[in-house]
Amino acid sequence: MITEFKEREAINLLKKLKKKTCVCYSGGKDSLVALDLSIKSGISDVVFCDTTIEFQQTLDNIEEIEYFYGINITRVSAPRPFFDLVYDMGFPTRALRWCCKVYKFSPFEEYARKNGIQAYITGLRKEENSKRKSYKMDDKNHFFNSNQINPILNWSEDDIWTYIHKYNLPSNPLYDLGFKRIGCWPCPFKSREEWKLIEKNFPKKYVLLQKTLKNILKDCEGIGIRDLNDFITNFKWAGYMRPQNTELKGKIEVSSKMTMIHLQNFEQLERVKNVIPILSKDFEVVRNSIIIKKKLRRQSVKILTEKAINCVGCGACVALCDSLRLRERHLIVDKETCTSCSRCIKTDKMRGACIKRNFSPFRYTVASCQDKLIETKDILLNPSSRVGLIRTRKSLEIIEEKFKIIAEIKKTNELLIINNKEFKAFAYKSKGLVEIKFCPKNDNLEKVMNYYRKIMA
Ligand code: SF4
Ligand code: SF4
Repeated sequence: MITEFKEREAINLLKKLKKKTCVCYSGGKDSLVALDLSIKSGISDVVFCDTTIEFQQTLDNIEEIEYFYGINITRVSAPRPFFDLVYDMGFPTRALRWCCKVYKFSPFEEYARKNGIQAYITGLRKEENSKRKSYKMDDKNHFFNSNQINPILNWSEDDIWTYIHKYNLPSNPLYDLGFKRIGCWPCPFKSREEWKLIEKNFPKKYVLLQKTLKNILKDCEGIGIRDLNDFITNFKWAGYMRPQNTELKGKIEVSSKMTMIHLQNFEQLERVKNVIPILSKDFEVVRNSIIIKKKLRRQSVKILTEKAINCVGCGACVALCDSLRLRERHLIVDKETCTSCSRCIKTDKMRGACIKRNFSPFRYTVASCQDKLIETKDILLNPSSRVGLIRTRKSLEIIEEKFKIIAEIKKTNELLIINNKEFKAFAYKSKGLVEIKFCPKNDNLEKVMNYYRKIMA
């Protein structure tokens, strides 16, 4: 009875939609119900975001659904498969979740933009996640320009199965194996029970995951990882907040009449030259420098330059705009069509404006005079200096306490300057965490990072 009321309520909502709408089908039970209700309401544009780490059963289910409803489902994906990209980005964890942006949000955003989609239907339910309590049936998600329609938001799990059995819908056979949720098989949000099911039913996948994690995390032993085998086999990796190391590759100078970007090598210069029209079309290249004949916002120049020199071709930002493209995993812009709207260097949609720049274990940086390090000491003005960056949840007070045993510490406005024979480090608050930048004095970054590991252990 209750299901029938909810069914009518959902169909009424979907029938009233005037906008160009599509359904996002994931292969799970909830999206199956949302899809069935949509088809009954006359909406048959269906999109599946293939994350390249789907179970074969899910891919087979997509074909079965096409046959069942007599429809074609559009598959969208990213340029690089997960198990290739992961070596550049690091393995996604609950704290560093970049995979949804690359494999779901961006490919879908591109599809929606290219096909004039104004609303998309999901199978989200409040019951699944406390964050969804505030969601509405006709809602907005800040990642997308189109409206998010959630017709089964108030349905319970029982409602979902009752509906599926009532209409004999082709549900994913993974549920018969005991899985409660469908999705990417190496997802860091999986429970221990789900990992056990994977080990039992898909042993090859399980071994691939363990091998990949070992390869990726082998250099992190000592940085929050005591025993790598235990870390992997007991799923501790899924909550790991890996530190990010940086290497300085250049600097930015801004004066009242011009902006200059000095870079270390020709390859990086070419990369930045290919995107600089986003900020200004009036520039020239002199040796290792790009000279732009106007004053630009320092932060925008830094973000764009770092995007260009770090790009590994994940495709996430390219999906946002037709003027952006990838050439051999490098970002390029079509200067004829780019309107310099700067949307691609805003950090709200994709933190850091670039997935690689923000989430990977290593990134190239350029210094600007506002950089706290440069302001404090011109130790980094040599662009070849290597800097180690650690992000930690520990407070500045704890860091001070730990380091005062081995180093002299000065405190200035929320900034700790930690100095000893081997290194100088700067610790400060950043986006809810504390960042510590280590500058080795004898060009031995590894030794310095070992200091950190010992002291913070
Ligand atoms: S610039 Fe960054 S977000 Fe854009 S494609 Fe390259 S790596 Fe991905
Ligand atoms: S988002 Fe705006 S600034 Fe970026 S490439 Fe597209 S048109 Fe140019």
